[in-house]
Parts: sequence; C-alpha cells; structure tokens
Amino acid sequence: MARPNPTGAASVQDVLNEAGIQKPVINISGCPPIPTAITGVLAQYLTFGELPELDHLGRPKAFFGQNIHDRCYRRPFYERGQFAESFDDEGAKKGWCLYKLGCKGPVTYNACATIKWNNGAGFPIEGGHGCLGCAEPGFWDWGGFYKPLSQGEWGGWKTLGIAAAAGAALGVASVAASRVKQARAREEKS
Ligand code: SF4
Repeated sequence: MARPNPTGAASVQDVLNEAGIQKPVINISGCPPIPTAITGVLAQYLTFGELPELDHLGRPKAFFGQNIHDRCYRRPFYERGQFAESFDDEGAKKGWCLYKLGCKGPVTYNACATIKWNNGAGFPIEGGHGCLGCAEPGFWDWGGFYKPLSQGEWGGWKTLGIAAAAGAALGVASVAASRVKQARAREEKS
C-alpha cells in the first residue's frame, strides 16, 4: 500500500494470511488493472472451473507473462539507440523510444502493449508517455517516474534484486538487471 497508508489498507492476501485462511488469491495488478484481464480470468473460471497459471506474484501468466518492452511498438527505436530526450523534441515527435524519459516498460509485466485500453484504442506509450510500472508491487513509492532505469533510482529493480537474493524472483530479477545493463550500454552509444 502507498505510504503513508493512513487507512491501514492491506492486500487481500495479507488479510487472509492474518486471519489464517488458506485460499488461492489471483492478483490482477495495475493502476487500474486492464478490464480484459479481470474478465478473462473470471471467464476462464466460470467456463472451465479452473484457476489460471500464475507467476511468482500471483498474477495470471496469460496477461502478465511478458513485459511491456518486449511487445512495445517503439522497441525498434530502442534497438537502434534512438531515444526522445524530452517530451517535445524531434525524437518525441518521431515516436522514438521513451527510455530516457523514465519508461519502466523493461521491468514491468503487463499486457498494455498488446490488449491496450478502451477497446484497444491505445496505451500510455502510444500517447507519448513512458510506462510508470503500475503493475509492479510498490511502484507508487519508488519515485523516479521521469528518470531512466539506468540511473538506478527506481526502487523496482532494487527490490527485485533483494527478492532474487531470497530466491523468490530470480528469473524476473536477472531479466531486469540485464535490461538495465543493455539500456545503459545503448545510452552510452547514443
Ligand atoms: S523503453 Fe519503453 S518506450 Fe522504449 S521500447 Fe521499451 S517499453 Fe517501449
């Protein structure tokens, strides 16, 4: 929950744990979550009577199995080292990659780039704004929305590093670390 959390809000999982109740929990993360992901999970359960396959954060892999970066239509610009440096420069007008403007797509797992929003009308990156990472736990307190991941100030991948040390999210953490390394190299080249 976002600091300072004056209402004492807690996740469903925490409430169940506190009460000693053992029930499966499916997390459809996002701020807000993609409606298609919610209805898709409900439809699967109602149709087949089974729960979807989940990732290490309890999110359905069908919707959270890939990160935004891997399905982003701006990815060719990232690969070529073509980055917007401000929201109104020539690169931004040409639709270049928003990594240097703080995009968190490389470490954010959600289906925004494929399912999109408002009946497929678009998603934030198509509107010219980088991904904020809202599908990752605790993103609201990590700050640095407009700083590139390579500056190392976004708590997301630091947290992932800690989780990896605990053996909880090794796959995601190593992908995140290599993405950051790759991006740093590209930034230096450009
Ligand atoms: S850094 Fe962001 S804008 Fe650039 S390709 Fe990745 S997800 Fe798309």
